[in-house]
Amino acid sequence: MSSASSRRSVFDSVRTLVVKVGTNVLSRSDDQLDPARISSLAEQLHRLVQTGRKVVLVSSGAIGAGMTLLGLKKRPTDLSHLQAAAATGQAHLIHLYDVHLRPHGYHAAQLLLTANDFKTRARYLNVRNTLLTLAEYPAIPIINENDTVSTEEIKLGDNDRLAAMVANLLPADLLIVLSVVDGLMTGDPSDPASHRVPLVERVDASLLSLATASKSSRGTGGMRSKLEAVRTATAVGTNVVIADGRQDRILDRLMEGEDLGTLFLAEQEALPAWKRWIAYTMPPKGRLIVDAGASRAVREHGRSLLAIGVTAVEGVFDKGEVVALIGPDGQEFARGLSNYDVTTARSIAGQRSEEIGRVFGGIPYEEVIHRDNLVVTN
Ligand code: GLU
Repeated sequence: MSSASSRRSVFDSVRTLVVKVGTNVLSRSDDQLDPARISSLAEQLHRLVQTGRKVVLVSSGAIGAGMTLLGLKKRPTDLSHLQAAAATGQAHLIHLYDVHLRPHGYHAAQLLLTANDFKTRARYLNVRNTLLTLAEYPAIPIINENDTVSTEEIKLGDNDRLAAMVANLLPADLLIVLSVVDGLMTGDPSDPASHRVPLVERVDASLLSLATASKSSRGTGGMRSKLEAVRTATAVGTNVVIADGRQDRILDRLMEGEDLGTLFLAEQEALPAWKRWIAYTMPPKGRLIVDAGASRAVREHGRSLLAIGVTAVEGVFDKGEVVALIGPDGQEFARGLSNYDVTTARSIAGQRSEEIGRVFGGIPYEEVIHRDNLVVTN
């Protein structure tokens, strides 16, 4: 597929999109938040919403803004100073968005999220309902990580990842990551010989090696973390663009199909939000090792997983929790919700339905994991 035709077909069909803006896009050279950039973003977001699309913004910039407001010259390394900077900067950040959205008749609606909000199904659904309800009003949801309560254990890590998780939650057909790079480059971005890759059909290991793990002084993500986020989204059916957010009217021009940034194509038809949650949001609590026959049945024929195909059970999980399926080669290839807790799963592993029926006096569930709750990930 040519880059131009891919772009047109991707952008024309977008109904729901997530835009992620990095700290350095929003900062001026004196490290203050740049009102002109925020104003331009607000105007473009407004135009996007006017086309009938649902738009959610994921914005960094709180810690950077807070550092400036509190007079910190270097990014703090300890959690409490980072959190103090985030608390101070977030108020200023959301205020600026609000001030620049109001002339267009929109409000800034702030959502601060942690990793736990994605892992608990009820909280996850609440976030989703809030976002969908906000779309009924003249309000643009603006999401950031809730840095002030996030500790190492509950941190999402960076906003590239947060944006991909939000795209999966909605689900969105497009995620636009605005950074201070032209897109994915063929080499070191500072090397004049390296150039922008306009289209990527698949994010694989060789592509990941193009990216460095470098970080900027005020933000957190590098190209490596961006590509990992890209993979989270493309693997389940969301197209992603990484582009330079400092370019004039960048969102308008991308949506018009202009050849800017790097477009990463979704690897499959869009998965429903439920399956995305199972496969990419919940960390698995256990592992079911399965034989070659079961692996083929699930992978190639979309079948449910039966007890007879399970050779071993690992971890600690309850009925209804996410488990990973591991093939005879030791590789994870799917995830799903187990109909049985770990003890029961272990006791029925490798058995035929009739034997299970004899032991339990009836079979509560024919399948260990039903195909509706099973997602092939690899
Ligand atoms: N939550 C951080 C902030 O607003 C940004 C994290 C990131 O840049 O990935 O400053």
